[in-house]
Amino acid sequence: MDKIIKKQNVYVSEEEKTLNWVEIQNSFKKTFGNEIYNSWLQKISLIKEYNDFLVLGVPTRFFRDWIVSRYLDKILEQVKSFKLSLNRIEFKIIEETKQNQEIIKINELNKVTEIKDSILNYNRLNPSLNFNNFIKGSSNEIALSYSKKVCEQLSRYNPLYLCGGVGLGKTHLLNAIGLELQNENNVMFISAERFMYHFIKSIKKNDMVNFKDFFRKSSVFIIDDIQFISGKESLQEEFFHTFNSLMDKGSQIIISSDRAPMKLERIQERIKSRLAGGLVVDIETPDLDLKIKIIKKKIEEIENQFKENINLNDEVISYIASESKTNIRELIGVLNRVIAFSRVHNKILNISDCKNILKDAFNQIRIITVDKIQTIVSNYYNIPLSEMLSQRRSRPLARPRQVAMYLAKKLTTRSLPEIGRRFANRDHTTVIHAVKTITRLSDQDDEMKKNINQIKSLLLEQ
Ligand code: ADP
Ligand code: MG
Repeated sequence: MDKIIKKQNVYVSEEEKTLNWVEIQNSFKKTFGNEIYNSWLQKISLIKEYNDFLVLGVPTRFFRDWIVSRYLDKILEQVKSFKLSLNRIEFKIIEETKQNQEIIKINELNKVTEIKDSILNYNRLNPSLNFNNFIKGSSNEIALSYSKKVCEQLSRYNPLYLCGGVGLGKTHLLNAIGLELQNENNVMFISAERFMYHFIKSIKKNDMVNFKDFFRKSSVFIIDDIQFISGKESLQEEFFHTFNSLMDKGSQIIISSDRAPMKLERIQERIKSRLAGGLVVDIETPDLDLKIKIIKKKIEEIENQFKENINLNDEVISYIASESKTNIRELIGVLNRVIAFSRVHNKILNISDCKNILKDAFNQIRIITVDKIQTIVSNYYNIPLSEMLSQRRSRPLARPRQVAMYLAKKLTTRSLPEIGRRFANRDHTTVIHAVKTITRLSDQDDEMKKNINQIKSLLLEQ
């Protein structure tokens, strides 16, 4: 028996096993760092040990492809240091065994703490986000008109998918649809984050039956910020089944996201095509005219609510509208600042007062750091930060890296060599190239321009 074991390709019996997987996992953590380890390597299990190769278990095909394309060489090198005779690794996609689910559960639970702390509306519609106070402009009129049509004729556009950058009115529209339909339908309004929270809670309590029933009984299912399910395999699985069963029974589904279905990353193809299967409408960044209308409406609302006069002349209003470039949430924030200032100083503001106040508002830019840019850009493109900063040159990493360099140049006071150093010691000429490339692309390509604007909004929001 002993002799046979020493042969190549032979399965090693229990007694003969030399590898301690826990020990190897620990070495992965050290070599690859916590971030990659937690997202990827932790989920790999050892299925079989042969004399010259290993069979490792991974949860999905996507997972396997990702690991193979990025980490395989290093993984092999690492396991070889434990057992020299190894020269190959095979992967097997394993059904989610109990043990595996446990791992996923723990991983996702870690993220739930954040969720608990954030203010989340769970099936609670906000009465002040309705169709009456949603102002129509050229950037949102299509989205607004289909949101209303859905209310008139359920299941005609199914699912209705609204996409657009942060602060452009997606949640407002979803909420308005919910309010419109809630009296005559069983409306479920939930953010994807909150959906996950309930999902995890139900797994923990061993109460999946209730979870499934609960969501599947709605006749109008509204889910906000679906991009959140990106990279979360077990959640996607559950969402897919919920989606299908709702569609089967003819419920209306309305979804929002920060990007078009096919642009979603790390989301199963079958889900993307389902999401794109109804009507997809885009909300664009607002033009000056819409921004002015929104400011006027907000002033009117505040005047009615607080029974006070807010004296901002048209010149001042146009100035605020033209200075606020990114989104409506920011616009309202700036307006509130101006109003607060005029209340505190009890004066009617002229344009130069406004300039001063806005200078401060837009000076938030000063606190944008290279670190912050790197984190936000890597989150935005859904790639691990360490990968974005690595030496790898593949396009999915290189573009985001260039975007981050470009923003670092534009939004911080760091010099080109300093920026280069922050990106794994790259040369300043690489930074110049990145700045040129992204400047050119954002001139020529609307998509790139939009991405840059969205990332800027995210940076200003933090
Ligand atoms: P998103 O969900 O796209 O990030 P929100 O729906 O939260 O954006 O909108 C951000 C803020 O801007 C909210 O206060 C919302 O009421 C307001 N808002 C957005 N679009 C409009 C609009 N067309 N008319 C009035 N208010 C708007
Ligand atoms: Mg929103």
